Amino acid sequence: MSKEGEITIIHFNDVYNIEPQRDEPIGGAARFASYIKSQRDLKPLVLFSGDLLNPSLLSIFLKGKQMVPILNKIGVHCAVYGNHDFDFGVDHLEDIAKESSFPWLLSNIKDNLTNEPLAEGKITHVMEWNGYKIGMIGLVEEEWIDTLATLDPEDCTFLDFAEEGQRLAKELREQGADIVIAMTHMRWPNDRILAEKVDNIDIILGGHDHDYEVEQVNGTYIVKSGTDFRNLSLITMKPDNSGFTVDIQKVDIDSTIEEDVEVKEIVEKHLGSVDKMMDEHLGDMAVELDGKFSSVRTQETNLGNFVTDIMLETTKADVALLNSGTFRSDRIHPKGVFKLRDLLTILPLVDPLVVIKVTGAQVIQALENGVSQYPALEGRFPQVAGMTFGFDPSKPAGKRIEPDLVKIQDEYIDLDKDYKLCTKEYIATGKDGYEVFKKCEIVVNSEAVSYNKYSSEKSF
Ligand SMILES: [Zn+2]
Repeated sequence: MSKEGEITIIHFNDVYNIEPQRDEPIGGAARFASYIKSQRDLKPLVLFSGDLLNPSLLSIFLKGKQMVPILNKIGVHCAVYGNHDFDFGVDHLEDIAKESSFPWLLSNIKDNLTNEPLAEGKITHVMEWNGYKIGMIGLVEEEWIDTLATLDPEDCTFLDFAEEGQRLAKELREQGADIVIAMTHMRWPNDRILAEKVDNIDIILGGHDHDYEVEQVNGTYIVKSGTDFRNLSLITMKPDNSGFTVDIQKVDIDSTIEEDVEVKEIVEKHLGSVDKMMDEHLGDMAVELDGKFSSVRTQETNLGNFVTDIMLETTKADVALLNSGTFRSDRIHPKGVFKLRDLLTILPLVDPLVVIKVTGAQVIQALENGVSQYPALEGRFPQVAGMTFGFDPSKPAGKRIEPDLVKIQDEYIDLDKDYKLCTKEYIATGKDGYEVFKKCEIVVNSEAVSYNKYSSEKSF
């Protein structure tokens, strides 16, 4: 094809679960692969912006190894490392990269021992594609180095992403690149800085944020393509007088898309292998644990206390609050042997935790929401730690909590005081009626409360 032709890119980022999800677009690696196959006439360049080894249920057992044959099968051409790709250590990631049929980029973190990019990442990658020379850079942000338990910040050097982006884009142009693509794994504000400071990059394909979003900053498109094999971007770049006209389409991988048979086989094989590992003996319970919906959704239970106490201990927050909908087992767990299978029956989802700053008044509002539907067995009913409260169900919803009787850390709550509250990211974003938390400042984000940092509580 001549240089006058269009170039098509398929971009995706942050994939954790290979199986389809419950709600549309349900995604799943097999459907995702079949969609990409269906576009093969366009000869798309398939690019991935990081985070796939962790966290997920399968990764607890397989350390992300399930992803390699899938990305190879999908036909990824180039990727950038994400923070979670370091969760099982640098050596493990190097093994993963060796098994990958495509290169991994990491342009701006150097290993101090070798003075080369960490985990043997490539600094740039150049490909001839549809008659174009395409140069790629992989940029990440300094913020996530601190969240990596497997990495000592002393052992590596972070280079400013905008400076390196500028320098490397120029270098790629000098090598004759027609198109320069920055693949990034950082938060929106840093991607915007990159777009503002660097003129030589044609498009920024980002990750780390999971919501699908496209923004144009300083004439450069920044694209974040969703998560979990549920969304992708189909990008067309057409040459014009001033460079390229860019068209970006969001594609949802919904249940109308057929599953690719070969990838489905890989997915099922891995899901089957994990089933056997569920018999791991975690410990012995001295008492029965009450996980019945009729209990956890109406009152304090020992299971609710057990889990929220661990949240409190792990994060050193003042108070922990979990919506009881988190507890999925709906049964009494007998005392005695407690297996991984039991734990995952109770908490089947990987639920990121955050710590937010709340005032006493906001805690009361949250509690009001939690008990507002009582006696209906609603998942918003709160299980808490570091706090005691009572409520009067004879009163109307919104007026059931008596603030004077609420205690945090054994002291009566002060409505004006700030407290650190640990909860699920889901609740902190205002779900299940906990709208009050939406405005609250996040003091410890979910990347920092990651299970690898607190390995003894890994499954929480
Ligand atoms: Zn990330």
